[in-house]
Amino acid sequence: YGDASQKVDYVFKVVLIGDSAVGKSQILSRFARNEFTLDSKATIGVEFQTRTMVIQHKTVKAQIWDTAGQERYRAVTSAYYRGAVGAMLVYDITKRQTFDHIPRWLEELRGHADKNIVIILIGNKSDLEDQRAVPTEDAKEFAQQEGLFFLETSALQATNVEEAFLTVLTEIFNIVN
Ligand code: GDP
Ligand code: MG
Repeated sequence: YGDASQKVDYVFKVVLIGDSAVGKSQILSRFARNEFTLDSKATIGVEFQTRTMVIQHKTVKAQIWDTAGQERYRAVTSAYYRGAVGAMLVYDITKRQTFDHIPRWLEELRGHADKNIVIILIGNKSDLEDQRAVPTEDAKEFAQQEGLFFLETSALQATNVEEAFLTVLTEIFNIVN
């Protein structure tokens, strides 16, 4: 964990978007620091966290941006999307509304970001299977239609978080190489 003290071959900016309380900040915390907080407060003013990893013998610094609680006001600015080569579109599998809002987020993303941006749809809180409100198949089908990668994650149990980031970063890596 942490940053390797070696030269960096690539810096990839990836943005997290989706409704409030779906777990964006905890997904980032799990990925960047391997930490999780059950009663996390709404994010205030955080910009990004980084983690350096090796992909096909190259050092890649992932710079992951988290919305500073702006998601409530639909006030994510174009500066947030600027230079992003990857995006993680997050909903909560126990809150149908957060999935129903995904097309809007996608529209916003496509309006602001580079057209070649790599996007993964993430259904978070997969540990709460007994409260599931979004069938995996619905999300899978939507992702397929829209040409997005898709995974269900649990930031709490650290399930698929690493895989989700690796999916995006490896795809970006393959595009630039
Ligand atoms: P954000 O507003 O999208 O950044 O959401 P947060 O990361 O602040 O998380 C909102 C709430 O959901 C917090 O109470 C988290 O502890 C909780 N949470 C986040 N990820 C998970 C998860 O994978 N499973 C469960 N059970 N709770 C989660
Ligand atoms: Mg947050």
